Amino acid sequence: MKIINGSALAKKIKSILAIDIAFCVEKYNRAPKLELVLVGDDPHSATHVGNKKKAANAIGMECDIHSLPCHTSQTELLELIDQLNKDASVDAILVQLPLPKHIDTNTIINAIDYRKDVDGLHPMNVGLLCTSSDDAIIPCTPRGILSLLQEEQIEISGKHCVVIGRSNLVGNPTARLMLKNNASVTICHSKTRDLPYLTRQAEILIVAIGCPNLIHADMLKEGAVVIDVGINSIDGKLVGDVYNSIDVPSIEKIASAITPVPGGVGPMTIASLLQNTFDIYKRNVVK
Ligand code: NAD
Repeated sequence: MKIINGSALAKKIKSILAIDIAFCVEKYNRAPKLELVLVGDDPHSATHVGNKKKAANAIGMECDIHSLPCHTSQTELLELIDQLNKDASVDAILVQLPLPKHIDTNTIINAIDYRKDVDGLHPMNVGLLCTSSDDAIIPCTPRGILSLLQEEQIEISGKHCVVIGRSNLVGNPTARLMLKNNASVTICHSKTRDLPYLTRQAEILIVAIGCPNLIHADMLKEGAVVIDVGINSIDGKLVGDVYNSIDVPSIEKIASAITPVPGGVGPMTIASLLQNTFDIYKRNVVK
């Protein structure tokens, strides 16, 4: 079974972007600019935002963090988004989720100019992806998954792809992206009856549930490619929904490839965020 190395591909994407950005800065006299908005003091969110800024700066992008206190009102947050929407020097806006409970997430996402919506969560981008438009900004994790499959030269067209999870962030857009790439797609979720019956048909199985040890070897088709999106912590150790689960020795005998956790989909999510930012920047500078 092949272990698909997401860290290596993310590194390669970032070094190519760094070269492209240096070239564009010379040509267009400005760097791509990504604005990160963090509300509250959740340490995980602060770490994620810090990592995104570090990665952006490392390849020559401009990146600011707007760190707002927990008690920030929805109106104040909307005012900041409006200001960033109107600022022509800003290419991309990302509001780190989850937001504090008193703020309505959909209202905030809908307020971001969809052309700057680097996370691809605005209904306009969701709609563009659903209609298979090349203009859609694709959410970062699904884009990372597609890049991994393409880098590994895993044929998607005509394959049966089963996606477990239907979140707006991962499952749903991943399924749409696989459909756009001509897979036959089944979406499974917490209400799905007879999950093993469906997973056994998957030539590509994408697992995004946040629940380790749910997938066992007898739920896989011989030769299946398993993309493990899940990130779970067990006894302080990072595990996937599939990778490092109790059944991995048996899974290894059946699957043809799997993404590890850590080092699989995770690093690709940040690399895709940078690619999305650069793509939006190019739309803005190349007229
Ligand atoms: P979510 O909680 O929003 O969605 C989970 C989905 O799993 C839901 O659609 C639910 O219906 C489904 N589900 C839950 N239990 C199930 C079950 N027993 N059988 C079938 N389906 C079930 O989570 P999310 O934001 O989509 O994230 C999923 C996982 O991916 C989490 O572990 C998260 O940490 C991880 N994640 C990783 C990355 C990355 O970069 N690697 C990015 C985002 C999310």
